[in-house]
Amino acid sequence: MRKVIFLGYDGLMYEMIDKFVEEGIMPNFAKILKRGVFSRHLPSPPTDTPTNWTSLATGAYTGTHGVNTFGVHLPGEPFENLHRFGANIFPRYADHWKKEDALNRFSRAEYIWQSAERAGKKCILINYPGGWPPNIKKGITIDGTGPYSSILSRLSYPNLFSSEEVATGQSIKLQIVPAFGWTNPPKSKSQPLESALLISGEGELVLQNEEWVPKGENAPRNSIIYNLLLINSKGEGYDKLIIFKGKNGKEKLATLEVGEETKWLWEEFSTPFGVFKGKFKLRLLELSPDGKNLRIYRTTIFNTDGWAYPKRIANELIDDLLRRGKDLLSDGTKEDIPKPMPLCQVYESIEDQATSLAITAKYLANKYDWDLLFIQLHAPDGLNHQKLNELCPEWKDYDPEEAKKAWEEFRHQYGIFDRLLGDVLNDCADEETLLIIVSDHAAIPTFRRVWLGKFFEEAGLVVYKPAEGGGMLPEEKWDPQAPSYKIDMERSKVFVGGNPFAQNIWVNLKGREITGIVEPGKEYEEVVKQSIEILYSIVDPETGEHPIALALPKASGDLLGQWGDSVGDVIFYFKPPYTEVIGAHSFTAISERIYKSNGFFDVKRGGGMQGIHHPFLPNERFLGFSVSGIFIASGPDIKKNYRRTAPLHSPDIVPIICHWLGIPLPAQCEGRVPLDIFE
Ligand SMILES: [Zn+2]
Repeated sequence: MRKVIFLGYDGLMYEMIDKFVEEGIMPNFAKILKRGVFSRHLPSPPTDTPTNWTSLATGAYTGTHGVNTFGVHLPGEPFENLHRFGANIFPRYADHWKKEDALNRFSRAEYIWQSAERAGKKCILINYPGGWPPNIKKGITIDGTGPYSSILSRLSYPNLFSSEEVATGQSIKLQIVPAFGWTNPPKSKSQPLESALLISGEGELVLQNEEWVPKGENAPRNSIIYNLLLINSKGEGYDKLIIFKGKNGKEKLATLEVGEETKWLWEEFSTPFGVFKGKFKLRLLELSPDGKNLRIYRTTIFNTDGWAYPKRIANELIDDLLRRGKDLLSDGTKEDIPKPMPLCQVYESIEDQATSLAITAKYLANKYDWDLLFIQLHAPDGLNHQKLNELCPEWKDYDPEEAKKAWEEFRHQYGIFDRLLGDVLNDCADEETLLIIVSDHAAIPTFRRVWLGKFFEEAGLVVYKPAEGGGMLPEEKWDPQAPSYKIDMERSKVFVGGNPFAQNIWVNLKGREITGIVEPGKEYEEVVKQSIEILYSIVDPETGEHPIALALPKASGDLLGQWGDSVGDVIFYFKPPYTEVIGAHSFTAISERIYKSNGFFDVKRGGGMQGIHHPFLPNERFLGFSVSGIFIASGPDIKKNYRRTAPLHSPDIVPIICHWLGIPLPAQCEGRVPLDIFE
């Protein structure tokens, strides 16, 4: 049976693959390139993440699917009420982070997994942006990166509770005292001992006025306390740990001897994303006969709600994970992970992400029938944002030592990306599988930031008013009291967009925008024309360069696939090394330093994002880097060792898959099949 694996890497770069394949650190990519087709693809503008994972899965251009960058403004809604997909491009947050909208609720185009299901195919989606909330019925959707690392599936790392300090910060101290104040105490041949632990692992408990209370000043978010009794059942020393919630000897949760663990225990945990039911097990690692040494291990606290469809898959993946021993103690006691840690750990290593994707894919692909398997890893994008400038001697802050470190980090991470491919090939593919590898865009270095509001205010199209707090330069300190400014829409003829407004300028049009002051017709046309002239007239006083590569009225956006009501009245693109002031999003206020500047700022080390993609034309190149995404295909009927010189477009990937599988296209698909990639 023909099957398709669609492996997505956010921000993976064509140039880096070539370099690291050559260096021998990407053996799996090397193998696949020999067996298949390698091409660039031009992302659908704006060249960013939500837009392009949508184009890559619907075959539609931006104008048609309507996901116009990280935030969609729809005419008639206040500019502040942008529909944002920031963190929510990771669908794990969809139902829980109410401030953000689910990406797939805003796509007006059918996804390939929906059309494939209509054609009788089964799909498995693992961490694909737009997959959650689930929009298929027969397949499987895993919102996050599986139980090992999804923020909502893992409410807390494992914890070790120990009467002895194991190593600084690596365990939570247990105090052992003679038992007191119990009703119906169980029998013991010698004086029962007791202890207690805070099940969330948020700190240790100490006795105060005969009560177990959290130590220290920071109150834990979750104060669920388990009472522990140590019992000498045979007269040969302490041999049993009995676990209770409270001090009634008749209401025990579990009895453990050394090496035994409880069944799943359930509690409700409060997290920054709401209250979740979590399950965990406790394991008795050590109980010395003299009752002095006690060590208890608590597994990860798993939440099974809101990240897997069908829901039972969540339990299966968690069980599979524990069988594989991935819930090892070392995971929760890495030196760089502070303890006690709040529930809902946000950060995790790239390696963890890749591993969890691989084991989740392996389990599901081997257990269930499927025809299409989608896997997406977000990691490469973060690397570009953090480190890309470091590689460029042309950058003012360039430092050869930092460059060396950055190259090492790229090598390290591309090695991980290669291993993920190797795992997926080994565990999920056979000789009848079509493997597709794509990235949604790449990135290019940026050296100068521009605040466009300045030039629109000077020209009289925008009026700013004093505000509180607001967007800043990355190197500025947040100060809610500091003077700041925001656009006064009652008096402005345009709304100047930067990210997440998709480099769009919206005319404050009467009858369309709720604050509209510009008359339709002649005045509208005049404001559009003037906005384009302003953009082209901006000059960097330091270099004499124009930072804008292209500015055009929406009517000409057809050229770039930008039409429809989610696209603004003027579309513009930056020319590298220029980008906009990120952190000073136009719908928030901006700091006085930005407001009173000449509109230009250097990108500095430690000053926020370096490699950038979203404000550039899809074919933009700079200093050996490009914005274009990658496309690799290998499998039956696919040409071998073939490098396509002309780029594809991101909507072309879906038709390639449908053509190869012989299934109908998704309803709004606009891409084309490049016949030259087939044998
Ligand atoms: Zn991306």
